[in-house]
Amino acid sequence: MSDLTGARPLLWIVVPCYNEQEVLPITAPLFLEKLHSLTQQGLISPRSRVLFVNDGSRDRTWEIIRELAAQDEHFLGISQSRNRGHQNAVLAGLMEARDRCDITISIDCDGQDDLNAMDEMVKKYLEGCEVVYGVRARRDTDTFFKRFTAEGFYHLMNLLGAEIVFNHADYRLISARVLESFADFQEVNIFLRGLVPLVGYQSGTVYYDRHERIAGESHYPLRKMLALAFDGITSLSNRPIRLITGLGAVFSLVSFIGAIWAVIQALGGSAVAGWASTICFVCLMGGIQLICLGIIGEYVGKIYMETKARPRYIISERTWEPYERRYRG
Ligand code: UDP
Ligand code: MG
Repeated sequence: MSDLTGARPLLWIVVPCYNEQEVLPITAPLFLEKLHSLTQQGLISPRSRVLFVNDGSRDRTWEIIRELAAQDEHFLGISQSRNRGHQNAVLAGLMEARDRCDITISIDCDGQDDLNAMDEMVKKYLEGCEVVYGVRARRDTDTFFKRFTAEGFYHLMNLLGAEIVFNHADYRLISARVLESFADFQEVNIFLRGLVPLVGYQSGTVYYDRHERIAGESHYPLRKMLALAFDGITSLSNRPIRLITGLGAVFSLVSFIGAIWAVIQALGGSAVAGWASTICFVCLMGGIQLICLGIIGEYVGKIYMETKARPRYIISERTWEPYERRYRG
């Protein structure tokens, strides 16, 4: 369409920020520079914007965003009423952008993802892709531990039935058209990496190098990574429940054989021996049952949260419509 009219797609870069006062002053000018360079190349509209989503930060992040918005019209910000986590922050930004632009690119604000990949992303969009995934080419800046756990995460996810793009995090281009369809995915438990492929449409991939964080600290320690993996799997797939059923069948068979063996032993008169093995078996079964109950409970919990249908984000403030306290008296 852009070729026919000479118009360029209007891009909104969506940047989630949580306690990023050290990083934001460094990376914000880089985002702006990228926006200008894309405009100069004639790839995007000059009316494109950078939208920061403050995810209930406890430091000066929101003040910094407000200052940025006051300094340059290309910067915009919205603030969530409290911290809701990375995924909800990105979602809030995307939904805010959806009616106001043609394409969005979501990217972390810590400077880890190579901004230059955006050129390629926009070009792929112009060639017809509605979604373009940013995929990490290498992981050599990561510690062995992060790399091992992160790559294990992708393998495990795929094994358990959540189809996700290998080594793709949340750096991606999504067109407004796809966001329109995505808005119909009303679930409360969101795992964007797994949900975006479900929306469909033509997609492409861009490889990029990921750097170290420019400043500040990662908000994804192992505990949060595990929680994200677990959420991803249970939001996208029923395979764990099916595995439990399979496991139950195998153990039933083993117990059945064990029972026959026990009866034969008892009939043979040597029943007292084997106390230790009985205890071991009982403990093992107890453990497995608890794990299985836990996994099922996790799904029941998800259903519980979904039935409440609580809002997935609450935007308390926007830089373009600042909140002023008014009194009636
Ligand atoms: N983030 C967020 N809310 C949170 C945690 C993180 O919006 O509760 C943002 C954070 O500001 C950053 C992005 O999500 O822009 C990714 O977080 P981080 O860099 O800490 O994760 P890592 O890159 O280490 O996986
Ligand atoms: Mg990071």
